[in-house]
Amino acid sequence: MHPWLDRPSLQDAQQRKRATPKHALVTRLEEKADKQKADTKALLAFRVAVFKRDGGKCRICHKKVVRTLALVANRAEAHHKRGRRVAPEDRYNVAAALLTCAACHQAIHLGHVKVPK
Ligand SMILES: [Zn+2]
Repeated sequence: MHPWLDRPSLQDAQQRKRATPKHALVTRLEEKADKQKADTKALLAFRVAVFKRDGGKCRICHKKVVRTLALVANRAEAHHKRGRRVAPEDRYNVAAALLTCAACHQAIHLGHVKVPK
């Protein structure tokens, strides 16, 4: 069944809304925020581990990369060999990722570069 066809009806949603007290909604928002915080932490640990394993060098062009949020060509990025839609379980899997510079990472996703095994 297509997920869109399996969605709860508007009536279901209205009923659920009425049944959910305000404090429960706040708790849900807090849980969501906690989950996002944990995800950010895990993602950072994953990126640091990939960076260390690959010695701070891009696995494609072998140039040194820098850990920065700035959008520069030599920025360190972690490429997932299998994307999050295909393999969500690989999100924090260091063995399933490789360190690239931003330029090579883009080239991979544009299909200009083949990812080494
Ligand atoms: Zn590169």
